[in-house]
Amino acid sequence: MTHVVVVGAGPAGLAAAAAAAEAGARVTLLDGAEHLGGQFWRHARADDDAPRAPRLQHAWSRYRALRDAVRRECEVVLGASVWAIDVSGERAVLHALVGEADGRAREPRSWRPDAVVLATGAHDRTLPFPGWDLPGVVTAGAAQAYAKAEGIALGRRVVVAGAGPFLLPAAVSAATAGSRVVGVYEANPLRTLASGWLPRAWRLAGAWRKGIEAAGYLADLARHRIPYRVGTAVVAAHGRERVEAVTIAALDATWRPVAGSERVVETDAVCVSHGFLPRLELPVAAGCALSAERFVVVDEDQRTSVPGFWAAGEITGIAGADAAIAEGRVAGASAAGAVPDPRALRMRARHGRFAERMHAAHGIRGGWTAWLTDETVVCRCEEVSYGRLVATLRHAPDAGLRSLKLATRAGLGICQARVCGRTVEELIVAERAPGDATSDARPLAIPVRLAELALGEDATPSQRKEHDV
Ligand SMILES: Cc1cc2nc3c(=O)[nH]c(=O)nc-3n(C[C@H](O)[C@H](O)[C@H](O)COP(=O)(O)OP(=O)(O)OC[C@H]3O[C@@H](n4cnc5c(N)ncnc54)[C@H](O)[C@@H]3O)c2cc1C
Repeated sequence: MTHVVVVGAGPAGLAAAAAAAEAGARVTLLDGAEHLGGQFWRHARADDDAPRAPRLQHAWSRYRALRDAVRRECEVVLGASVWAIDVSGERAVLHALVGEADGRAREPRSWRPDAVVLATGAHDRTLPFPGWDLPGVVTAGAAQAYAKAEGIALGRRVVVAGAGPFLLPAAVSAATAGSRVVGVYEANPLRTLASGWLPRAWRLAGAWRKGIEAAGYLADLARHRIPYRVGTAVVAAHGRERVEAVTIAALDATWRPVAGSERVVETDAVCVSHGFLPRLELPVAAGCALSAERFVVVDEDQRTSVPGFWAAGEITGIAGADAAIAEGRVAGASAAGAVPDPRALRMRARHGRFAERMHAAHGIRGGWTAWLTDETVVCRCEEVSYGRLVATLRHAPDAGLRSLKLATRAGLGICQARVCGRTVEELIVAERAPGDATSDARPLAIPVRLAELALGEDATPSQRKEHDV
C-alpha cells in the first residue's frame, strides 16, 4: 500500500490527506500546530467542535467534515514540526520534532514515505515604515490569531492597514474581540482596485463563496461603523514605550505618499498586512523548482519537479482557502496513484482566476520605499536600518545578497529572513539591477536545539533528561 505523508493540516493538507486516504493510501498527516485547520480555520484546540467566535469562522462545516475524515482514515501527528527533508537516498526522509514548540521534551521522529504532499501554507508579509518596531504594531495575522484562538483584543483603538482582502477579516476580528477599529486603510487606489476586480467580472462567478465572504465582512464593517479608505497607508507610527499614534497619508498609484496629505490618528494598536509569502523552506530543501514569482511549480496533478513530491495550497500561489482545498484534493489523489476528481480540477481552475484578480488589484507597488527614512529599521531581529543597508550597497556596488547579509547582518537573526528577506531583496533591486540570490533557502525549517540534533532519534528518555532536551 502506498504510504503518503502530508505536511501541513490547513485547508490544502486536510483535503490532500482525505483524498489520498479515499484513494486507498496509508496516510500520515503532520502539522507543527496543536490543532488542525491551518490559518483559515485557526481556533483554540478546545474549540474544535464549536469555535469560540463563530462569526469569525467560515465554512466551519467543511472543516468538520475534513477533520472527521482525516481522524477516521489517517494517522494524525500534531505538534510535529518538520525541520529537514533529506533527499540524498533512494527515498526521501522527513525529519520532525514532535512536542510543544518551545517545550523541552520534543521527540525526534522521521518518516520515509513513498510520496510526500507539501502543504505548508504562507505567512503574512509586512513592509517596514518608521516606528513599525514599536510594541503595539503587529501583523494582521497575529492580531487575528489572538482574536480567533484566544478572544483577546490587542488594543482599544485599533488601526488596520496594508493591502489585500485580508484586511477585512483582520478588522472584523479586532472589532469582534472588543476593539474600536478607527479605520481600515488599503494602499491601492480605487482605480487599481477596479482595474483588478471589474473587467469581465462574470468570470468570477465560480468563486461565489469568496464573494459571499467579502460581502459578510463589508456588512460587519458597516455594523461596527468602521471606515474603509483606499489609496491610503500608515507611513509612520509614533510613541515612546509603545505605539500612541500613526501618520496616515494618501498614496499615488505607485504607493508614493502624496505630499501634504498626512494626518495623525491616535491609536494604541496597529495591525499591518501587505499580503502573504509562501513557506518555502521544505520545498526548497527537497529541491522543488520555483517559478519567477517564487511559488512551487506544479503540473496538472500538482506534482512538483522532484519525483515523489506534490505541493498544494498557498505554496503554489496565494489564492485562498477554496483554491487550497481544490489543489489538496488533486494532489492527495495523485500522490496515492489515483486519477484526481474532475470536480476538484474545475474548482481549482475557477479559484485560480480569483487569485489573478486579487494580485492585480492588491499587489505591492514599488513607490513604498519613499516612506522610509535612514533610521527606519528593516531587519528587526538584527536591528539593521534602511540607511545602513543603502550605505553598504552604495559602498560595495557589486555586493550580492549574501555579502550584504554578512556585512550588515540583515536576515541573519532568529526569524532567518522570514520577515525582512523579500524587503531586503527589493531594496537591492530599487538601488540597482537584481542579483540571482534569494532569501528562501534555510537549512533548518524551524529553530532546533543543538542537543536535539546531537542526540538524534535513538536517545533514551534518561539521556534526554540528562541533556535537558
Ligand atoms: C496569518 C494568516 C491568517 C490568515 N487568515 C485568513 C482568513 O481569515 N481568511 C482567508 O480567507 N484567508 C486567510 N489566510 C490565507 C490562508 O492562508 C489561506 O486561505 C488558507 O489557509 C491556505 O491554506 P493552506 O493549507 O495552503 O495553508 P495554511 O492554512 O497556512 O496551512 C499550512 C499548515 O502547515 C503547517 N506547517 C508549515 N510548515 C510546517 C512544518 N515545517 N512542519 C509542520 N507543519 C508545518 C502550519 O502549521 C499550517 O497549519 C491567512 C493567512 C495567514 C498567513
